[in-house]
Amino acid sequence: MGGAITIYAYIDTTEITVRELDLWSTKVDKKYLKVAAEKTKTLEETIDIVFGLDVKKATKYRCLYIPLKEGTFLLPPLNGEWSFVELKDNIFSNLSEENKKEFNRIVKRPVKDVHPVFEYVIVGLPNSSGNVSLFGCGLDGNVINLNSFKKKSRIKKQIHPFVLKPKDTNLYSAKIKRWHPEYLLNRTGGNRKLKDKHILIAGLGSVGSEVAMRFAKAGVKKLSLVDFDDMAFENVHRHALGIDRVFLANDELFFDCPKVWGLKAEISRKYPFTEVETHLKCIFTILDEVKISKSDIDLIVIAIGSPNNEMRINKRLFELPDPPPTIYTWVEPLGIGGHTLVTLNGEKEGCYQCLYKADEESPIYNRSAFAQQGQDFSKTITGCGSVFTPYNFLDSERTAILTVEAGIKVLMDKMVSNPLLSWKGEDDLFRENGYKTTIRYSFSHEKLNGTKHLYKNENCPVCSKQGGSIHQ
Ligand SMILES: [Zn+2]
Repeated sequence: MGGAITIYAYIDTTEITVRELDLWSTKVDKKYLKVAAEKTKTLEETIDIVFGLDVKKATKYRCLYIPLKEGTFLLPPLNGEWSFVELKDNIFSNLSEENKKEFNRIVKRPVKDVHPVFEYVIVGLPNSSGNVSLFGCGLDGNVINLNSFKKKSRIKKQIHPFVLKPKDTNLYSAKIKRWHPEYLLNRTGGNRKLKDKHILIAGLGSVGSEVAMRFAKAGVKKLSLVDFDDMAFENVHRHALGIDRVFLANDELFFDCPKVWGLKAEISRKYPFTEVETHLKCIFTILDEVKISKSDIDLIVIAIGSPNNEMRINKRLFELPDPPPTIYTWVEPLGIGGHTLVTLNGEKEGCYQCLYKADEESPIYNRSAFAQQGQDFSKTITGCGSVFTPYNFLDSERTAILTVEAGIKVLMDKMVSNPLLSWKGEDDLFRENGYKTTIRYSFSHEKLNGTKHLYKNENCPVCSKQGGSIHQ
């Protein structure tokens, strides 16, 4: 084999049928950028984001992906030490009968709009640990159809070099760099079981936005984002979005960017394999319009941080025949902590309403709280005119991490029942300003963990009547 090529390949190696890929090549600063991708996915936009490559302007080549059969004993060629004959023999002696047939079927198909004389082959070599390594090459094809390529008709037969050996053929060994999410997540400790999960997140403020970004980072299949607020400059330093997502602007118009749109753009840029659906509306509108069921949504996260709304949502979800597991999450002021409440996870006991005793004087006092009831955290306390923020980005990010960690456990069936999970921060700032903490705040981490199920109220008007386990 001759000189070295690099191909950036998006190949699902769990699919073991011989098939044609798309391969585009373009010259950038004296080097060739070559990107191969499965034909089954529309990846043009992603390729533009990842490689800055406009496939419409690039040259397209025929590229076959040839997965060898399980148990193949072969060392991939290093530094191009295989000849054309060795390459062909090694491939065809390790190809299943079905894939030989499939190969013959594919190479008989007429090709369209591809380079007439150069071809690519990428070979999948399964190893004993169940992974597949890839190697590939570019090779000169048969020149016999050059004339028809120049004519108007761009559909033509192109004889594959493995069918008819060209007179002068050179092999150019190719290094395959992989960017399929299955491979990337597998390599980085990501969780492949999350790749078919759909999560709905309502409330994309400081906590919800961080939750959304982290679930995309974890590689979930789809996020549905529900929020009707726009970004504002004041959000920037405690939100997953930065200052470039406050406005949507072009030559003709500008307006404040809705948080859901900003997050969709941000996620598509960083984690393009997660599909994002945006709902620029209130969660109650969604509950009215959409039939929410566990068969479609694997997890709901409510990060609105408004107890009255959370209570109403909790009640609505309990009325559904098949509600998905739902997590409520919120932050407390001045760094003293944050909470994640799991509900509807396999059993019905324990819900958001349980945190509020019905007979209490003030119905919206949350029993999980670290801050004592009835304190006003919205005043100026710095003494130099600036309004203090009741919590900062570290508090919301810690809360988001607690929530995503719990969410992944729920999705993996590793979470038992419906715990109330809390992280506890320091109370210096709190005490300095004369605020009071609750008895629950004095609990050690062990005690908080040991009491995570004790919030459940046997007489809860929402969850106690129904009881029992949820049909799985
Ligand atoms: Zn309850």
